[in-house]
Amino acid sequence: LDYDASIGWHDARVVPYQPITLDPAAKVFHYGQTVFEGLKAYLTADGPIRLFRPRKNFERLNRSNERLSIPHLDEELALEALKLLILTDREWIPSAEGTSLYIRPFIIATEAALGVNPSTQYKFMIIMSPVGSYYAEGIHPVKIFVESEYVRAVKGGVGNAKTAGNYAAGLKAQENATKQGSSQVLWLDGVHRKYIEEVGSMNVFFNINGTIVTPALNGSILDGITRDSIIQLLKHWNIPVEERALSIDEIVEAHGNGSLVEAFGTGTAAVISPIGELLWLGHKLSINNGETGELSAKLYDNLTGIQKGTVEDPFGWILTLDDR
Ligand code: PMP
Repeated sequence: LDYDASIGWHDARVVPYQPITLDPAAKVFHYGQTVFEGLKAYLTADGPIRLFRPRKNFERLNRSNERLSIPHLDEELALEALKLLILTDREWIPSAEGTSLYIRPFIIATEAALGVNPSTQYKFMIIMSPVGSYYAEGIHPVKIFVESEYVRAVKGGVGNAKTAGNYAAGLKAQENATKQGSSQVLWLDGVHRKYIEEVGSMNVFFNINGTIVTPALNGSILDGITRDSIIQLLKHWNIPVEERALSIDEIVEAHGNGSLVEAFGTGTAAVISPIGELLWLGHKLSINNGETGELSAKLYDNLTGIQKGTVEDPFGWILTLDDR
């Protein structure tokens, strides 16, 4: 779809994957006026195509739009566009165990003008790619670098929008973390530099003596759809869950006195990513002996089961595209 201030969103079309042409002065290149989403479609050999909570993605896209001064996009129209695109070529969706179709909807500001104000023209596009199993060699815990120098987002900034600038702000820290043998960065808040926010592309949960604690949505972290699903699952199982401010000091203390039972990240790509070690100011804090925790494994099995259709979906999270 294209957007022009005089006619709104228009001209929905499906075209073969190909390079696009943009003016070098397009605002997206200079001012980062762009938002995106990430979701997955699943297929089992004998079932319909399954989308996991797609409306949540388009609702979040519009919240990001609002923050970035990008015009609202009708969520049902976006969903129709997605269905049409998927059904255009369903051979793209792999059905083997653990595989899925990754879907990336995004909007870019295309107006060619160097003034720093919102664009009057945009493009909404959806690209897709089959992806293999995230854990081809079995689910394994990751090492996470707790960032003490750089900040990703502050309250009032764009941290709770899914926009390019947040990821650009994180690249340097990610590079440093990789050099130190960690796979992702754990961000702390930008004001006190002690409250836990989120991991590079995941929300984060800690099991402290059987209570599952995750940072509250405070305006600077992403409102993860996996995060919301995990909270609902935990409540459904009557496992105590708290959304609140959580400092790195509390985690270090819980680690010290043995009450930090397990930790995991949540996101569309990995679903659940157990955390085996935190690297904080040069200290290595090993969690659950670097092994996958019991709850992480149970959550992973249930959520991926709901997505694939092997576990009942009591929440109505799956939208099926039955074209047969
Ligand atoms: N935080 C950030 C910064 C992310 O990029 C992602 C991935 N979208 C998440 C959290 C997890 O969100 P979701 O569960 O919706 O994929």
